[in-house]
Amino acid sequence: MRVLLVEDDADLAEVVLLGLRQEHLAVDHAATLADAEQLLIATTYDVVCLDLGLPDGEGLDLCRRLRSAKGDGVLARPRRILMLTARDAVTDRVAGLDAGADDYLVKPFRMAELNARIRALARRSDETGGPLIVGDVVVDGAAHVATRGGVSLDLTGREFAVLRYFAMHAGEVVSSEDLLEHCWDSNANEFTSSVRVILSRLRKKLGEPAVIETIKGVGYRFGHAADTS
Ligand code: CA
Repeated sequence: MRVLLVEDDADLAEVVLLGLRQEHLAVDHAATLADAEQLLIATTYDVVCLDLGLPDGEGLDLCRRLRSAKGDGVLARPRRILMLTARDAVTDRVAGLDAGADDYLVKPFRMAELNARIRALARRSDETGGPLIVGDVVVDGAAHVATRGGVSLDLTGREFAVLRYFAMHAGEVVSSEDLLEHCWDSNANEFTSSVRVILSRLRKKLGEPAVIETIKGVGYRFGHAADTS
């Protein structure tokens, strides 16, 4: 998942960049509207985290440009826009949402909250038919294609279904029973042992660093770098 952070507070930007990279997101940073526009010409971002008050103008104006009905013509439309604002007055929030932001976060915020919002926005993209994006893993249910770091993964139907289920529940603990219920059809005469077999193949194909964590006695969690024991 590719994220653009537009934030002129250097200290805050440093903390946020570090936090997002720890979540294995590819993150670019712009400190001004001009810098942001330069980056938005070349890249379609999954999420743009947009500060409102910037040295050369208002984040709201950029948001309106990115969300205008016929498109800007120059800048690539990001999938989602998350407003970062120190202003928590209701009118400011409404203005942000009216300008086309998908969500907003009031400063100061905790990194865990920002990460959760970004994951939720990525999940919403899937509900509207777009690909699911978790870290550097992209699962496109409509096209039946999965990639990691831009490299296509050669998955069987079952492996794809399991990866897609994981991507839809990124960060949550998923049990073997959940996987059997949602990824195996009722005709399949398969048990928990076959979940382990599929998981082991999927992990091999996904490669390093590991993105499927085993929670002993409970299940699995996708989207966290962890050991694969
Ligand atoms: Ca600012």
